[in-house]
Amino acid sequence: MATKKVGAAGKFGARYGKKLRDNYAKIHASSKKKYNCPVCAREKAVRRLSFGVWECKNCKTKFASGAYEFRGEDFKK
Ligand SMILES: [Zn+2]
Repeated sequence: MATKKVGAAGKFGARYGKKLRDNYAKIHASSKKKYNCPVCAREKAVRRLSFGVWECKNCKTKFASGAYEFRGEDFKK
């Protein structure tokens, strides 16, 4: 069960220790988040396709960025 406090890590219940669950919740949240596109400047258009691969749904540009987090500043000119 996902709760507000632990987010997606709630599925682990009380298992695996707090540190791991906190980490998982943080990483999960940032990998599901939508990011602003550094190419076409559209807000919240970049989402994660797979491990380290991100795509802007507006201009279709693909980015290789963080595995769980998009670092748009890497692509700014
Ligand atoms: Zn774009």
